[in-house]
Amino acid sequence: MEAEELAEEGKGTEEESIAKRRRTAATRVVNGDGDESVDRIVLGEPVPGDEARRRWPESSDEEEEMKARCHYKTVNVNDEIYRLDDDVYVKAGPDEENYIGRISEFFEGINRASYFSCQWFFRTEDTVISEKLLKMHDHTHDHKRVFLSNEKNANLIECIVSKVKIIHVDPNMTPEAKPHAISDCDLYYDMSYSDAYSTFENLPAGCGAMSTGLSLGFALSGKNLETSWAVDINKYACASLKHNHPYSQVRNEKAEDFLALIQQWDTLCKKYVQKNDTTDPDTDVSSNDDEDANEPLPEGTFEVEELLDVCYGDPNSTVKTSLRFKVRWKGYDASYDSWEPIDGLSGCPNRVKEFVEKGHRENILPLPGAVDVICGGPPCQGISGFNRFRKCNDPLKDEKNKQLIVFMDIVDYLRPKYVLMENVVDILKFADGFLGSYALSRLVAMNYQARLGMMTAGRYGLPQFRMRAFLWGALPSMVLPKFPLPTHDVVVRGIVPKKFSQSVVTYDEATTHCLRKALLLFDAISDLPKVGNDQPKDVMGYRRAPKTEFQRRIRLNRKDMQDYSFRGNDPSEEDKLFDYQPLKLNKDDYERVQHIPSKKASQGANFRDLKGVKSGPNNIAELDTNIPRVKLTSGKPLVPNYAISFVNGKSSKPFGRLWWDETVPTVVTRAEPHNQIILHPSQDRVLTVRENARLQGFPDYYRLIGPVKQKYIQVGNAVAVPVARALGFSLGLAYQGVSDVDQAVLKLPESFIYSDQEKVVKSSVGFPGDEVVESEHLGE
Ligand code: SAH
Repeated sequence: MEAEELAEEGKGTEEESIAKRRRTAATRVVNGDGDESVDRIVLGEPVPGDEARRRWPESSDEEEEMKARCHYKTVNVNDEIYRLDDDVYVKAGPDEENYIGRISEFFEGINRASYFSCQWFFRTEDTVISEKLLKMHDHTHDHKRVFLSNEKNANLIECIVSKVKIIHVDPNMTPEAKPHAISDCDLYYDMSYSDAYSTFENLPAGCGAMSTGLSLGFALSGKNLETSWAVDINKYACASLKHNHPYSQVRNEKAEDFLALIQQWDTLCKKYVQKNDTTDPDTDVSSNDDEDANEPLPEGTFEVEELLDVCYGDPNSTVKTSLRFKVRWKGYDASYDSWEPIDGLSGCPNRVKEFVEKGHRENILPLPGAVDVICGGPPCQGISGFNRFRKCNDPLKDEKNKQLIVFMDIVDYLRPKYVLMENVVDILKFADGFLGSYALSRLVAMNYQARLGMMTAGRYGLPQFRMRAFLWGALPSMVLPKFPLPTHDVVVRGIVPKKFSQSVVTYDEATTHCLRKALLLFDAISDLPKVGNDQPKDVMGYRRAPKTEFQRRIRLNRKDMQDYSFRGNDPSEEDKLFDYQPLKLNKDDYERVQHIPSKKASQGANFRDLKGVKSGPNNIAELDTNIPRVKLTSGKPLVPNYAISFVNGKSSKPFGRLWWDETVPTVVTRAEPHNQIILHPSQDRVLTVRENARLQGFPDYYRLIGPVKQKYIQVGNAVAVPVARALGFSLGLAYQGVSDVDQAVLKLPESFIYSDQEKVVKSSVGFPGDEVVESEHLGE
C-alpha cells in the first residue's frame, strides 16, 4: 500500500500555526561593565508630519509604544551616518550571523526610543533551502547572493551593526559578465524571496505588464503546447503516450540514459550538421567516402545500408552501455537489424552523417537551449512509508530517489524556458522536506526563478482529494507562472507539512469567494453500464446517456475538448467506452465481495460487515469466537486474517465499498480490495480502469495500453488532468509575458471552468483550520 494513501486517511487534528518569520534584532549594548560602550545615536533631519504620514502610514499591527512620534531622514550612530535605503548588517541572536536589511524608516517612538524599519534580505540558508544544501557535490550557491524578502519590521537603532554594500544584478546577466559586476560589492541580489509558495522570482520590473484581459483571450484562443519528446522506462506507459500523442517522440528508456544520449547527440550535431548548409571542408566526409566503392568487402564484413535509430544504453544486454545505432544491414531484412556501438561504425561516416542530419532536421532529440518546457514526475520511492530502509539522513543517497537528481540534471543540461515538476507531498515531509528543498535549491542555483505549491486535485473538479506538490521553474528572462486557484470545494483529508504550510494553493483566509460544490462519485461514474468481475472486452458501448455535466464533458471527443494531439483528425471510434474492465478478482475474493452489503453505512460497508467479525473495545476489529468461522466454497475463511489484523484491527478499509455520495482519497496504482476502499457501490467488483481514469479526470477518449494491471498503474501515477489543465493555463499566460506583480496565484476565468455545479460561498478554503492534520505515517 502506498504511503500517500495512508497519509491521506484523515486522523489526528493537531493544528498547525503558520510560523511567520519575524526577525527581532538583538540589542548590541552591553550593560555598564561590558566592553562595548553605549552607542551614540543622534537623530538627523526630521521629516515633516504630513509627509511622514504619507510615506509611512501607521499600520494596525504595530505595538503601541513603537508608534512613531517623529520620523527622520538620517541617523548618526557612532559617527557613521545612515540614510534611508542604506543596506545594513543588523545584530541577530547570540549564535546567529548578522541579519541583513534595507532601511526604510527611522523614527522615534512614543516611548522616546529610536527605531529603524527595514526590509530583510535572506541568505540562501534563510529560505526553505536549508544549510545542508549549501554543501552539495552537484550544485553550489554563491555566498555573496542574497534574496530580497517582502518581510519588514522595526527594531532599535542600536541593533545596526554596519553598512553593507549590496547591488542589484540583472538576473539575465551572462555568467561571464557576472564576476566583474559583483567584484566590488559585499553582496548582491537578483531575485526576491517569499515564504508564500516558496517563491524565488525576478523583482517587479515596473513596466511591460500586458493587459491581463487581452492575454486571457489570447491564451484561451489556442496557443498550442505540444509534447515533442517523452521518456519513460515503462514500455506500456510509453505505448499509451504514443497512442494519445502520435506526433511525439516517445522514448522507452531510463531517464539517465536519455540524458547521456542527448549530451552525445549534441556533440554529433555539432560535428555533422552544418549551419546555413554551407559545406565545411573539415567536416565534409563525402569527399573521402569509400563506403560506396564497388570493391568487394573482405570476408566476414557486413555493409551498413542505413542507420535507423539511436540510443544510449545496452539494448543487446551485453555489458557495455554506450551510444549505439540501430543498423539495417545491406542485403538483409529487418529481422537482422542490430544495435551497434558508434566505435564500430567508423568505417561508414557517411551513414552516420546522414542519420544525424536527418535526425536534426526532424528534431528527434532535444538540444540545449531549444526546449520550451520540461515537465515530469520523477518517482521518489525511497520516501514511501513502507520502505523500512528509508535513508532519513541522506535521502539522495537512496537509489530510489535518484530520479529527482536525474530530472534536475536534464534541466541543467537542456536549460528549458520552463520547468514543472510534480511529486507526492512526502517530498516536503520526509526528512524535514529535504528532497523538496533540494529540488528548489537546484533550480535557484541554476539561476531559475522558482515557486512551490501543493495542489489538491478535487479542488479543480474531481471527486478525489489527491494532494500533490508542484514546482515551477522559469528562466530569468521569462515570467514565473503562478498557481491557479481552486474552482471547486472538496472533502478535505490528509496533512500539510509544516515547513511548507504556506505553499498550499488556496484562497487567502480573508477573501470571500465562490467555489463550485464538491463533486461526488455519483457525478463521475453513475452513467456507466453494469459489468461483472470478469470483463474480458476492453471496448463497449455506453448504453446510457450522461446524467451529469461531468459525464457529458468527460465523454467529449478530442476536437470538442480542444485537444490537438492528433492535429485535428482523430480517427478513433466515437461513442465507445474504452478500458472499462475491472481487475479480475480471484474466486475467493469475488465470493467475499459478494457478501459486502451494497448500502450507505455510517462507517462504509467493508469486511466488518462480514459474518464472524465483531468490533471490540476502541472499535478494534476481531473475530467473533462465539460462532464457528465461516468458510468460502474453497474452504478458506470468509474473513481473511490479514483483513482483521490490518493496522492492528483499526482499519475499515479491507474490502471497503464506496458510496455514491463519497469522494476517494487518492486513486492509487493498484486495484486489489485487500487494503483499500475500491469496490463499486452497487456492483460486486472493484472500480474499472475507466472509472479510476474518470476520477483522475482523463477524458474518455484517452485510451490506455497494456495489461489491465499496467493500465491501473498508468492511471494511478498520473497528474490529475484538470490540475494539469489549470497549470497549463497559468503557463500559457506566463509564456506570453503576462505578469501582475506580487501575486503567486491566479484566478481561473469563468469560461475555463465547465461545471453545472452550484456555487457555494466560502470565506476561505479553510487552511489551516479545517485541514486535517495527522502524524506523518500510520503504521498501515
Ligand atoms: N507525470 C506522469 C506520471 C509519472 S509517474 C503522468 O502524469 O502520467 C513516474 C513514471 O516514472 C512512471 O511511469 C515510471 O515508469 C517512470 N520511471 C521510473 N523510473 C524511471 C527511470 N529510471 N527512467 C525513466 N522513467 C522512469
